[in-house]
Amino acid sequence: MNDIIKGLEVIQKDDELISLGTRIAFYPLAIKEAKGAILMDYDGNEIIDFLSAACVSNVGHSHPRVVNAIIEQTKKFIHYNPAYAVHEQMGNLAEELIRITPGDFPKRVAFSLSGGDANDNAIKVARSYTKRTKVISYFRAYHGTTYGALSLSAVSLPMRRDLGPFVPDVYHIPYPDCYRCNRKSPDSGCNMDCMEKLKELFNTVVPAEEVAAIFLEPFQGDSGVIEPPAEYIEELVKVCKDNGILLVVDEVQSGFGRTGKWFASEHYNLEPDIIVLGKSIASGMPLAALVARKEILEGWGAPAGSYSTAGNPICCAAALATIDIIEEEGLVKKAEELGNYTIKRFEEMKEKHPLIGDIRGKGLMIGVDLVKDRGTKERAKDETAKVSYRCWEKGLFITFFSGNVLRIAPPLTISKKELDKALDIIEEALCDVEAGRV
Ligand code: PLP
Repeated sequence: MNDIIKGLEVIQKDDELISLGTRIAFYPLAIKEAKGAILMDYDGNEIIDFLSAACVSNVGHSHPRVVNAIIEQTKKFIHYNPAYAVHEQMGNLAEELIRITPGDFPKRVAFSLSGGDANDNAIKVARSYTKRTKVISYFRAYHGTTYGALSLSAVSLPMRRDLGPFVPDVYHIPYPDCYRCNRKSPDSGCNMDCMEKLKELFNTVVPAEEVAAIFLEPFQGDSGVIEPPAEYIEELVKVCKDNGILLVVDEVQSGFGRTGKWFASEHYNLEPDIIVLGKSIASGMPLAALVARKEILEGWGAPAGSYSTAGNPICCAAALATIDIIEEEGLVKKAEELGNYTIKRFEEMKEKHPLIGDIRGKGLMIGVDLVKDRGTKERAKDETAKVSYRCWEKGLFITFFSGNVLRIAPPLTISKKELDKALDIIEEALCDVEAGRV
């Protein structure tokens, strides 16, 4: 292990790990091989993967069809800068992305390398198309770490500290977080105060007619799988339409079947002006894309939106294979079914385990919010780190968000048997932590 990680900064001591609290836990994990939902380390241990490389490996690790597509394309040619030449893999993939993404209107596609730089491109495209400069994002959003994406992101202070100045004219508003909402009216319940905050921003600081785009994660992922209510999304679409603001939906984490639909936008019948794609698009090969209304992307590209190695044919071939696999293996439906089953199992666990405060999400993008007390909803950070580490010791790799939300995101190809084993491990870990055994 030490030979493998030398030169890398990896936290590996157990006591440090437990004290991480608000951070994502890093385990002494060096992967020798990975197949399907199983990771194999250098000591021959087999570990169930409940992270999918952070929703990158939706079709499972090293799916043979993805591997084959990569090998075959590598034999043909490795790359040509897309500013100067196109190739069949890129054209075919663009057509496929247009077909599977929401919105029955003419679209265009622009390729890049990561979710972060695709979001940067989305800022540029939105500004250049609307001739407006201001963009709005959400507190606790995560859109990546390139400067534009980082400027949109607001997961926590450590992510931004000492890195400013950021891209100007980016404003943040509260995301509709119903579980931890403290703005409900005492008599009528939800009064959509989060929507009022957007309107207040328009009335006080940022005139709506100066806003180019609003960036939305359809489920806010890295803040702990927060699902907005449908009424909020409906109102947001209306506000955008009424004011000529583009709605950019970041499906980097939630796309490609993860939530039991091809894209999480479909849970809201949402047809975004621009959709940002990445992560699982090419099963781990570096590829990302924007899919946008034709008129928005037409004429866009070099010189402001091109990357020398974007739209790489090997990555595009991997993406085409990934889309075929999702369709042929029925992974969208499978994610929905396994997701419903997983949520049911957690609901049953909630009856017995006071640590479980809330269970959120759809398909296999689920967050299990662990609390010290269901009334106060105080985040059970130490307990969560212990549960996660106990799972690790028992052969399940599971991480957490916001210090206390277990992240349930296995590959969509996971078998029912593997899933059951993983859920049993989580329940055992909850028992161990609640009983003070660890
Ligand atoms: N957008 C969302 C919603 C994400 O979850 C992430 C990564 O976690 C990104 C963008 C950034 O993607 P990348 O890490 O490929 O730059």
